[in-house]
Amino acid sequence: MSNYYTIIGARNAIRQKKISAVELTRQTLGRIESTDKQVRAYNSTCADRALEQAKAVDEGRRAGELAGVPIAIKDNLCTTFGTTTCSSRMLKNFHSPYDATVIQKLESAGAVILGKTNMDEFAMGSSTENSAFGTTRNPWNVDCVPGGSSGGSAAALAAGMCCGSIGSDTGGSIRQPAALCGVVGLKPTYGRISRYGLVAFASSLDQIGPFGWTVSDAALLLKVMSGHDPKDSTSVPLPVPDYLAQIDQPIKGLRIGIAKEFELTAGMDPRVKSAVDEAMKLYQRLGAELVPVSLPHTEYGIAAYYVIAPCEASSNLARYDGIHYGHRTDKPVNDIIDLVSQSRAEGFGDEVKRRIMIGTYALSSGYYDAYYVRALKVRTLIKRDFDEAFKKCDVILSATAPTPAFTAGEKTADPLQMYLCDVFTVTCNIAGIAGISLPCGFTADPKPLPIGLQLLGPTFGEEMLLRAARMYESATDWHQRRPVLG
Ligand code: GLN
Repeated sequence: MSNYYTIIGARNAIRQKKISAVELTRQTLGRIESTDKQVRAYNSTCADRALEQAKAVDEGRRAGELAGVPIAIKDNLCTTFGTTTCSSRMLKNFHSPYDATVIQKLESAGAVILGKTNMDEFAMGSSTENSAFGTTRNPWNVDCVPGGSSGGSAAALAAGMCCGSIGSDTGGSIRQPAALCGVVGLKPTYGRISRYGLVAFASSLDQIGPFGWTVSDAALLLKVMSGHDPKDSTSVPLPVPDYLAQIDQPIKGLRIGIAKEFELTAGMDPRVKSAVDEAMKLYQRLGAELVPVSLPHTEYGIAAYYVIAPCEASSNLARYDGIHYGHRTDKPVNDIIDLVSQSRAEGFGDEVKRRIMIGTYALSSGYYDAYYVRALKVRTLIKRDFDEAFKKCDVILSATAPTPAFTAGEKTADPLQMYLCDVFTVTCNIAGIAGISLPCGFTADPKPLPIGLQLLGPTFGEEMLLRAARMYESATDWHQRRPVLG
């Protein structure tokens, strides 16, 4: 089915001339036309440009590992084409003067960029309901959310409106929507991929990463996007392995860490728990050893994250003043303070304002030590927990999210409930390690909802992490299911 080409499937079909890049791009744009009314995954598309790119592939003027593959981009990655809105009124008309490094890399690999995907405003949220431009829905059940903040990228893929997509993950924003949409999502190690051109949310936590239907698709996108970039001083000058070279080789004697702190009982959906338990058993049957590990500071992860991330956000978002950047009020103003406050009041949504207030409060004199410094101390402890655990195991297994996709509107009135969607994902960002989510089951609903399995690996352990994930994937068929859209 053309709707559901994987990245590698599409690439091979184009190489073997079973389909032309233009045909595939047309089909995918057609799918967006017919389906995105229900899903609302895209903020904008660039159809003409995409068809030009595809034509160049067909005419041999563009080549590379992704030649002709239609890809969707989260709307917080700067592109010289179209707008880069971060799903915020603040940046509604923002045209970036430059392309993010990942955009350049994807395009030099021959990818066809279809458009920019919806997200929670400035990547703050877990449901894509914080977008200023309408909420994205879950293709498995359009009454439900796709997760967030990269919900548009996950939903576009799950609905067949691209073959792969790009998101960003600050506390779970790739892995959690991947879990809720039944696709694979990878958060690479901090420093693996250049963030030049990613609109900053929380700079010590943000990473860019891929979505794909399969672990191999995620590995290919990772390979294309990784590497040192002089324009991002946090990108690491390490060679980029060929993540696909060994991916099909099972790891002999794989040691899987099981942390009791991830076996949350309150708030854990029993269907998620049983799917994850089954995954553990399957790994054992595949020859892996389950090793108990301890991550004692996990319970402070959410609290530390929701101090550190808002603190950094309050600083990063200070630039949107209606003068240097972003929305400027039309109302009459008395002075510059009035201009800035009125523009910010109009430009930002509620969740963004909440984070700015939390962040400025926690950074203010008298509270700095009590909140920010303390959160950083917890951060060190969480990092040490992982360092210790990875002495005993290769990867750590847990659920990605405590529940399957929830109904739209269910958690919007209670920010804390929304924050708890990230209990299993935030510590990975706090420690800067790598994490992946892959499908591990479905609920028994009339419209089954996907369940995600999370594997965490040590810093720059992506090669092994992907192989470990592929071991599970190759023994299951969850990744072959596709939603039926009405
Ligand atoms: N849901 C988390 C938050 O709201 C994580 C977001 C993200 O990873 N960008 O901050």
